[in-house]
Formats: sequence, C-alpha cells, structure tokens
Amino acid sequence: MTRTRPGDHVILSWIPNCGHCHYCAIGRPELCDSVPRGKATMLDGTTRLSKDGRPIHHAFWVACFAERVVVPEAGVIPIAPDIPLDRAAVVGCAVMTGVGAVTITARVEPGSSVAVLGCGGVGLNCVQGAVLAGAARIIAIDIQPQKLEFARAFGATDLVNGAEEDAVAAIRRLTDGIGVDYAFEALGNPRTIRQGYEALRKGGTLTVAGMAPDGVDLSVNALSLAAQEKVIRGSRFGSARSTVDIPRMLDLYQRGRLRLDEFVTRHYRLDEINDAYDALQRGEVGRGVIVFE
Ligand SMILES: [Zn+2]
Repeated sequence: MTRTRPGDHVILSWIPNCGHCHYCAIGRPELCDSVPRGKATMLDGTTRLSKDGRPIHHAFWVACFAERVVVPEAGVIPIAPDIPLDRAAVVGCAVMTGVGAVTITARVEPGSSVAVLGCGGVGLNCVQGAVLAGAARIIAIDIQPQKLEFARAFGATDLVNGAEEDAVAAIRRLTDGIGVDYAFEALGNPRTIRQGYEALRKGGTLTVAGMAPDGVDLSVNALSLAAQEKVIRGSRFGSARSTVDIPRMLDLYQRGRLRLDEFVTRHYRLDEINDAYDALQRGEVGRGVIVFE
C-alpha cells in the first residue's frame, strides 16, 4: 500500500518515520529509531542515485535542491492541491519546528509570557506559535534589527536587541523582575540557551528548539534547577507527528491563522542558490524558496 498517487502534491519531511519502532509505537515518530541518522541514505541504508560510479547522498532525506529526487515514502506527506507549493514548502521544516515547539512540546497556555531567543526561520515561527497559543507577552530577542522587525510583524509584543542590551536583564525588566513563563531557544547556541534559562521565572520552562553542534556542552546553575523548579526540555521538529501535524499547519494557513505568505519573502532559481544563502545569512529574508519553472 502506498500513501500517494502520481500527480499528488506533497511536502517532503526530513524526519521520515518507520511506523513500527519503539518510538513510532509510543506516538513519538519524531524520535524514530529506524532512520539511519547522519548517513543521508534511504531507510535501507542505500543510495539510489550515482554519478560516474560514485553514490550521491539524499541529504536530510529530502534532497530537495534538485528538480527530481528519490525519497523514502515515509517522508512524503500528501497535501491539498489548492495550497500554493511555495508556501507549503516551508512548513516541512522551520514552520513546524517553531510552531510545534510552542504548541506541541511546551503547550503554552493562554495568557502566558514567552521569550524567543533567535528570530530566524524557527524563532519567527516560535513567535507565531505563541500567538496561536494565546500568549499575552511575546518578547523577541535577536541581534539583527531586520529579524526583530519580522518578529514584530509575526506578533511579538516586545523587541530586544541582544547586541545593545543584556537579554536576560531586558526580559526581567519587561516582566516586572519575575522572568518569563516560557522561553524558546532557536539558535542551538549554549550561550543563548543559558540566557533563556536565566530569563525564566521560578517554575518556568525553557524549550530548546535550536540544534547545537555535536559535542557542545551546556552549563547552568545546578542549584537553581531544583531550588527554582526550572525545566529545560528539548524539541525536535516541534515534537510533531508529520502526517497529523503538517496538515494541521496547512489548515491553519488556509483559515488565515498561520502566516506563510509573509514568511516566504523571496523566490530564487536553482542557479541562484548561493545568493539565497547569502541573503539568509544577512537576515534579509524570513525564508527564500527555490522554484522551478
Ligand atoms: Zn520508527
């Protein structure tokens, strides 16, 4: 049996899941054990493409900087045909990771105070996740003014430029010295993870959605963990179950409650891909999308 038919519109997921391992069975497919992590092969450990006898790897199981790809069926999510493909394309990574971190991993309650450290693609979607969750105060922190302006457009109530003032002090000032109920780190940097922890109120929860480089350690005040009942948790792909939660994101978009039009700020041809990365690094775009004529 297959999930898709020729001609279907689909989103590609970089977290294909096998459906039968321990983690799939307990409803945590984002942690699936059966996918060969880091090997960039199909699920059976092989590659299906080659050039001059050398294998071409399927980067992140989507291999999408190409006109045609071979991907595992488990990483293909059919979507409604009336959703613009350039909008759908961004849901499979940054949108689901950011919105999911807030609404699925942390389950932010209405009226909460939220800080988001790092307002790139994932962080902006933490901001709009916090709006969806009904957070009252959404403090966006970044060191690039353009990214902070994006965050404001996505619903941040307060902006903090971390290059101009201490992020922890600013968050405390904005929360009457208490700290935030929830902090989200979207960079994968031990310094900003620690800032997110220190900006929490007692009993607050830090959710780390940013992927730190392998081998990097995190240091926080050990006493505060117990004495202040703080919580640190990780979020992989927003703890999403791709086949359920990606269609939910698209449903929210079609009902006008999820901003994708504003997020997709530029289009590029494949041969312009390096320009696209440069613009991303300069913080000029929410997301650029490579399109094929
Ligand atoms: Zn599995």
